Amino acid sequence: MPKLGTAAGTLEVLRKYDFHFQKKYGQNFLIDPNKLEAIVEAAGVGEEDCVLEIGPGIGTLTQYLAERAGSVIAVEIDQALIPILSDTLSEYPNVTVINEDILKVDIARLSREKNAGRPFKVVANLPYYITTPIIMKLFESHAPIDLITIMVQTEVAERMQEGPGSKEYGALSLAVQYYSRPEIVAHVPAGCFIPAPKVGSSVIRLTRYEEPPVTVKDEAFLFRLIRASFNQRRKTLVNGLGNAEGLAVTKAEAAEALRTLGIPENIRGEALSLEQFARLSDLLCQKEAEKKGSSDPQTKKNTRIERQEDE
Ligand code: SAM
Repeated sequence: MPKLGTAAGTLEVLRKYDFHFQKKYGQNFLIDPNKLEAIVEAAGVGEEDCVLEIGPGIGTLTQYLAERAGSVIAVEIDQALIPILSDTLSEYPNVTVINEDILKVDIARLSREKNAGRPFKVVANLPYYITTPIIMKLFESHAPIDLITIMVQTEVAERMQEGPGSKEYGALSLAVQYYSRPEIVAHVPAGCFIPAPKVGSSVIRLTRYEEPPVTVKDEAFLFRLIRASFNQRRKTLVNGLGNAEGLAVTKAEAAEALRTLGIPENIRGEALSLEQFARLSDLLCQKEAEKKGSSDPQTKKNTRIERQEDE
């Protein structure tokens, strides 16, 4: 089987298997060897690594990864691609393909079973329709993952890096920056894929922190607060939080907490830094706990954020 990663090699495989792209699975296959090399290089993949690849497609990036990594576990949802992958990856005994929806995979268990509990490096050309849920799953599962190198829509990559004051700054920026250091490492034109996506693409590397850059009493409360703060972007933070579902905080309490922190009461959520959200979270979660009759909220480790899909 020739190496994939060119238009000719990819088209040959597609024809051989009479493969039809499934739009619902966000299938855009890479056909540029330079960009494939750049992804593997940015991920710093070496023999000691076990790579978790999300969505191998016909196995293009998988081949590049398998040549450098100790092992690769590739999770692909589309059953039609499984026989193709066993053909295109037949010369790579260090690759395991799993036919599953990544959102349903227990990644911590996979790491125990396939990598003795050691951290994975995640490398993927992600399906754009579920970029955010995948990223949040990788973080929130608290599975051992130390580096995530992914192709995403450029706009989403930029959103992950944004800071306070920008229009694009939001819940995703804060979640990514709470867990990792984001860095855009390459831009990839639409012509590098078959079929060409309608949006620009970029590779972003997220280096997982051992400890988050801010400490909070209750991680779950912090993320409830962040979600509530960006749900009603046009309102001031005080008005947004006072109305927010799932947050037992009154307008007066929100205003008082901002005063305590020396933050103007008419501020909007998008102007607050991660550190300021953390301090606000500690004050307000204390209030919420007092209302519930407990004054010592324990640190919780589940940070669900609900988000819209990216496209
Ligand atoms: N890695 C290949 C490449 O770079 O050419 C294909 C990337 S393509 C953008 C995204 C891949 O993710 C497709 O193969 C698609 O079928 C797969 N996929 C979509 N949703 C998925 C999910 N929930 N779990 C696992 N794979 C998924």
